[in-house]
Amino acid sequence: MILYSTQKSSPNVSFEEAIFRGLPPDNGLYMPTEIKRLPDSFFDKIQDLSLVEIAEAVCNNLLGDDLSEAEIKSIITSSMNFEAPLFSLEPGVEILELFHGPSMAFKDFGARFMAAVMSHYLVKHQREIRILVATSGDTGGAVAQGFFNTPGISVTILYPSGKVSDIQEMQLTTLGGNVEALEIEGTFDDCQRLVKEAFLDADLRAKFNLASANSINIARLIPQSFYYFAAYAEAKRKGLHDPLVFSVPSGNFGNLSAGLMAYQMGLPVKAFIAACNENHPVPDYLSTGVYHPEPSVETLSNAMDVGSPSNFVRMQILSGGVLDEIKQVVKGYFTDDVQTKKRMAEVYEKSGYIMCPHTAVGYDGLLQYQKECGEKVTGVVLSTAHYAKFLPTVEAVIGGKVPVPLRLSELLDKQKKSILLGTDFEGFKKFLLG
Ligand SMILES: *Cc1c(COP(=O)(O)O)cnc(C)c1O
Repeated sequence: MILYSTQKSSPNVSFEEAIFRGLPPDNGLYMPTEIKRLPDSFFDKIQDLSLVEIAEAVCNNLLGDDLSEAEIKSIITSSMNFEAPLFSLEPGVEILELFHGPSMAFKDFGARFMAAVMSHYLVKHQREIRILVATSGDTGGAVAQGFFNTPGISVTILYPSGKVSDIQEMQLTTLGGNVEALEIEGTFDDCQRLVKEAFLDADLRAKFNLASANSINIARLIPQSFYYFAAYAEAKRKGLHDPLVFSVPSGNFGNLSAGLMAYQMGLPVKAFIAACNENHPVPDYLSTGVYHPEPSVETLSNAMDVGSPSNFVRMQILSGGVLDEIKQVVKGYFTDDVQTKKRMAEVYEKSGYIMCPHTAVGYDGLLQYQKECGEKVTGVVLSTAHYAKFLPTVEAVIGGKVPVPLRLSELLDKQKKSILLGTDFEGFKKFLLG
């Protein structure tokens, strides 16, 4: 895979260079120069393939010039070791459950694949890197779990003290080993600023091989395309043959961009729904043609509280580049907190199924779309996190206690290990230099 910068003023790079750089020097985003279609024979037989087999085929298609088939097999089997089942909620609505990985959110797919690919190159070249990452909650858990015990990589995660949920905090702070958690007495923005300054600091760069693990890394996007194919395969097995509509609860638009990559590779899709909360610059852009990023506002679906989505340009390019074409493929809807809670309660009363607030935004987006388009289309709602990660909200809506999976409940008995730091860069730097 050869990648170019969307700003067009940095040189093209190889896949390996793109994943360790993260961002091109001109501050654009790395995009593949070519995304090849998969052959018809792949789609004809896709219903016979497992998630792992699909992932290998897609990966060979994208990265066949960078990695051998055996290397791809080893990376996929070590990182994609959990399922993405399709749950039939009601006629016309399938829920793609992406929360069966270690941190119980879809970000596990990206983080685990990225860790496996980076480790492959680091072991090969006998190099080591230090990953610095700031998190407002979900990313940190997935990165911590995904990179835990990965050869060649140590991870430092910065999170705002008192501003992440108990479960999220325990996911970051209880692993130990090569994963270190810094509790910053400030906001998420402070954490992000410290990380940015570290990347620019000559002393730190001289001492460490610094790398980032944030959502703009192409290595996080690629594996998120796998489950769109897997959902299509499962839909075929269920006898649902029409092109699907995917409703994607969106914040930074990495997940939706990954869906569009699958579409570019030939996946039959009728439309993608950009399902947003009260932060909705993209749905506004689709209806007015004007893109107007805004400061973010807080909602119940907080992993989607993004006012200026970092993958916006990728989404544009992958869906046709010009507004008229983008609108054919991507449909924008948004949902406020009152309606989000209403949908969660309604689904629970009807079927006993519990959705996290992000998934409920996706579900509401799909229902808005189905109502507007008039025809009966099969919608697949991406369920981006397990409901138990958002207990206070879920229990308030349901009006009682809900079961919590062992993987999350046992975390709360573990020992938290974090290092408390202020927001000044010099203190942070001194700590890193150790
Ligand atoms: C990160 C996240 C999202 C948003 O995904 P993007 O790729 O940033 O659009 C949605 N739901 C949950 C639970 C998340 O953690």
